[in-house]
Amino acid sequence: MAVLGLLMGFCAKVPRTIHTPGGWVNLILTGLTGYVASDIITGIAHWSGDTLGHDRVWFFGPNFIRPFREHHFDQKAITRHDFIETNGNNCIGMCPPLAVAFVAVPHQEGFGFFAWTFVAFVSLFVVATNQFHKWAHADNPPAAGRWLQRWGLILPPAHHDVHHASPHDKHYCITVGWMNPILNGIGFFRAAEWIVARVCPSWLHIEERNRYREAARANALNGSPTPPLGAPPPPVGTWRG
Ligand SMILES: [Zn+2]
Ligand SMILES: [Zn+2]
Repeated sequence: MAVLGLLMGFCAKVPRTIHTPGGWVNLILTGLTGYVASDIITGIAHWSGDTLGHDRVWFFGPNFIRPFREHHFDQKAITRHDFIETNGNNCIGMCPPLAVAFVAVPHQEGFGFFAWTFVAFVSLFVVATNQFHKWAHADNPPAAGRWLQRWGLILPPAHHDVHHASPHDKHYCITVGWMNPILNGIGFFRAAEWIVARVCPSWLHIEERNRYREAARANALNGSPTPPLGAPPPPVGTWRG
């Protein structure tokens, strides 16, 4: 509710501040930049959940890391979550930056106004991301969601399927996925893992991914899938090896 109130407050402030056509163009460009930034931020958060730490880490393990890992062997679970369970964590996380942006945004057009509006756009799109992610897994998303997916304006299911193909090591961005080809292409996440392996190697946990890779190989050889390390065995057929 706090997030909704802050967003409505922002919506009321914007038309009282922008008085020129150029200002509205800048607002649209700020929104687009915020959408791309949200795609990158959710990609990094998703990669962190998949790759860093383990589910026994205090607080973060059960609340943030485990859901990411479990999502790989039960990807339909997200479709059984209600609205609060789907969006609650992202709302809590984005409330502080949105509140700061709401208080700090100046009442005249200029760099400061668009900078804080950018923060508000990013908060909005990060909050919306898990809903887009849920729709990418849903058998029957709402008509508006299907339309946005078809035009590639939110995360399309076929695009997200690339991440769910074993060993789940690419296509981490889940707001819309526009940045996935670019971040894959420049080796962004492999470079991040290289840095973590040198700076703080105990944080890097890619054994599950390796296990999926081994399972895929075993699956291809004799059709007997191996369960991922540290996770309940996936029922046969719920993941793709
Ligand atoms: Zn993942
Ligand atoms: Zn997914």
